[in-house]
Amino acid sequence: MKNLYPLKLKPAVKEIIWGGDRLKTDYGKSAPFEKLAESWELTVRPDGMNVIENGEYAGMTLGDYLAPELIGKGYSGDRFPLLIKFIDARDKLSIQVHPSDEYALKNEGEYGKTEMWYIVEAEEGAELVFGLNDGYSKKAFDRAVENGTVESLLRRVKVKPGDVYFIPSGLVHAIGAGILICEIQQNSNVTYRVYDYNRPGKDGKPRELHVAKAREVIVDYSPAQLETLRFSGRADLTPDLLATCDKFTVHKYEVSGELSLDVTERSFVSLTFVSGDGEIIFGKDSYKFAKGDTYFLPAGLGEVKLSSGNAVCIASEI
Ligand SMILES: [Zn+2]
Repeated sequence: MKNLYPLKLKPAVKEIIWGGDRLKTDYGKSAPFEKLAESWELTVRPDGMNVIENGEYAGMTLGDYLAPELIGKGYSGDRFPLLIKFIDARDKLSIQVHPSDEYALKNEGEYGKTEMWYIVEAEEGAELVFGLNDGYSKKAFDRAVENGTVESLLRRVKVKPGDVYFIPSGLVHAIGAGILICEIQQNSNVTYRVYDYNRPGKDGKPRELHVAKAREVIVDYSPAQLETLRFSGRADLTPDLLATCDKFTVHKYEVSGELSLDVTERSFVSLTFVSGDGEIIFGKDSYKFAKGDTYFLPAGLGEVKLSSGNAVCIASEI
């Protein structure tokens, strides 16, 4: 039986060609390379594993610490359910799509991927690719791939800090240049790259595309459906509730003063701080946090208080 307390997590960091350096300069991350594209804040995977930084279990991996009841009562999956990242896109990402659970489990031995983006920073005029224009037909798609005109199919939207986008499996998407996001997603790394602007990869050759698989999994979301997936300011969600679906529920807490959270046996809560600093108070102990930090609160932890003058926290659970 493990002792429960707020666990400060050391992320897994990833170098990718389109990455920037703001996670190092502004979010407290360290990495032995220049282009720090992704910081995996909550991750229990062979290709990226959190290490606990504080308290009795300091130095232990989160995977070794966890037991099913610390993820959540009734959770029956055979692997940890979520993956949470900071992504710093200095340059634009490839145009991509993720498969559903059904397709991914059958073809890749992984979960599918539904994801959510909270826009932490965006340069003036920064854009995302969020779906396709004019409906999707396999014929038109094939023609565009053949003619190198995929870019003309893409539906682009301008973004600003605080915006929230929900990306279900099957939706074509890409993060644009000059955007820093906090991404909450299913624990999966299955990405089908549709188009990569003919850019060279690390080795100088273009990165691999997966057009045939992408073609199989793309879902034709209508403009009206896409509007319902753009969660910013939606009337049926409270200001605190950013997104909820069968994979995850995400709240945004703006803390000025004290805010109390009850972490029940139903689910863990992961806290990723996107601005400000302060303390997490648990019983007689307090744990300092700063912008960029992630804490894992195991299921059943009970009441914690967040204390800060100015912090914004993205809180994710299942
Ligand atoms: Zn994606």
